[in-house]
Amino acid sequence: MLKIEHIGIAVNDLDAANDLYKKLLGTEHYKEEVVEIEGVTTSFFKVGDSKIELLKATTANSPIAKFIENKGEGMHHIAFEVEDIYAEMERLKEQGFVMTKDTPSKGADNKLVCFVHPKSANGVLIELCQEI
Ligand code: ZN
Repeated sequence: MLKIEHIGIAVNDLDAANDLYKKLLGTEHYKEEVVEIEGVTTSFFKVGDSKIELLKATTANSPIAKFIENKGEGMHHIAFEVEDIYAEMERLKEQGFVMTKDTPSKGADNKLVCFVHPKSANGVLIELCQEI
């Protein structure tokens, strides 16, 4: 694992959250991107070497919609940047972690991503991401 690449935050209203994080961080988001396969619109802010990723559901059955339904808005995941996502997935599986999928998929911000199930990581959804 190289560093904390970003922290994902689930929000109901992306425009309002963009305004709030602009005030909080003192900088504009640098991009918004829809990830169709995950049912989310994302918005990214740079904070030094790391990022904040705001996530808004695009459909009622999006994982983000379900997350907010169950837990309300808030921190959704921590993403670690890795050098070799396939090798890290194998390493984590050997350590007993449960991955949500067997293969990485294309996520936002030009990344290959996969997730460790929160049940195997103290209730925290862990994302691994690798620059494509
Ligand atoms: Zn993420």
